[in-house]
Amino acid sequence: MGEKTQPEWDLIVVGGGPAGLSAAQYGSRANLRTLVIEELAPGGTVLLINDMENYPGFPKAINGYEFSELMHQQTEKFGAAIKTATVTSIKKMQVAFVVETPDGSFSSWTVVLSTGAKHRHLGIPGEEKFSGRGVSYCATCDGPFFKNKRILVIGGGDAACDEATYLANLSDKITLIHRRNRFRAQKSLADKVLRNPNIEVRLNHILEEIMGDDRVHEVKLRSTDGGEAYKENFDAVFIFVGAVPQTALVPNLEKDEAGYIITNQKMETSQPGLYAVGDVRSTPFRQVVVACGEGAIAAHMAAAHIDAIKGESY
Ligand code: NAP
Repeated sequence: MGEKTQPEWDLIVVGGGPAGLSAAQYGSRANLRTLVIEELAPGGTVLLINDMENYPGFPKAINGYEFSELMHQQTEKFGAAIKTATVTSIKKMQVAFVVETPDGSFSSWTVVLSTGAKHRHLGIPGEEKFSGRGVSYCATCDGPFFKNKRILVIGGGDAACDEATYLANLSDKITLIHRRNRFRAQKSLADKVLRNPNIEVRLNHILEEIMGDDRVHEVKLRSTDGGEAYKENFDAVFIFVGAVPQTALVPNLEKDEAGYIITNQKMETSQPGLYAVGDVRSTPFRQVVVACGEGAIAAHMAAAHIDAIKGESY
């Protein structure tokens, strides 16, 4: 597809999580013709949060689905269009970008990439085989299937602690294992786990195999302090061992050693006119509130970029 003299959009946001919706809100409020392209439902991984208790302005905690729906409505109220499609490529033409989907191509002066990150898998025997049959990456989605069952949680970050605490409301037989001798999670979240009588914590432990018949029944664990691997019965295994940034659309952008996109404080990537925000971006703190701030900055800088292209003063 050739470049049009005037692209049809000023700003295309790829990915409709909090960072992307925030960029779209700020973009459309600044009078940019704004299109959000999201492959699933607006909200991204926030849809899976049961109680979000640390977003400013919601002292009673807000459910992730409700929060996403409010952001979605607010984004449309400001005039942004939201399209459901999978973006297959983002191409830079002479000045503008062309964003391709199976439903057609869309051109824009600027693009905000907010494609987020997906759950990392352990890659151990049984993990893929029992995925959806006892192996899960989302406590809010699958926890209720395992009420009062024996549940194993893997990981030592914020997600593992948050999700183990959620699962401990459903069962008093939660075991959380972490490969090191201390948590990576924020202290407040780790403390909640350590104080919870329904959660047994085993540090310096790894999961080696998941076994069962049509469902998970047993796992093989090992202490990293030495000793034999041992088997133990569990009905479910919830894995929270970090995330993999979704950067396949932008193979040539500069990334950090973990694969997250590097930007400057203006959210500018190494490609002029292309911004990265939210969980796909290299950042010291992945939080919804941070992601929303990044989206606002990106839209603001996109507006300035368009003004500069058009030769208007800023
Ligand atoms: P994370 O912070 O990267 O932690 C991943 C955990 O998994 C680490 O404890 C890591 O161990 C462990 N791990 C990684 N690979 C492993 C493997 N192969 N085998 C065993 N363990 C492994 O990821 P996250 O907890 O998913 O959080 C992702 C981001 O979302 C973070 O920035 C976090 O702050 C944010 N988040 C925030 C909240 C909240 O504020 N409520 C909730 C969820 C997520 P090591 O510690 O040894 O590296």
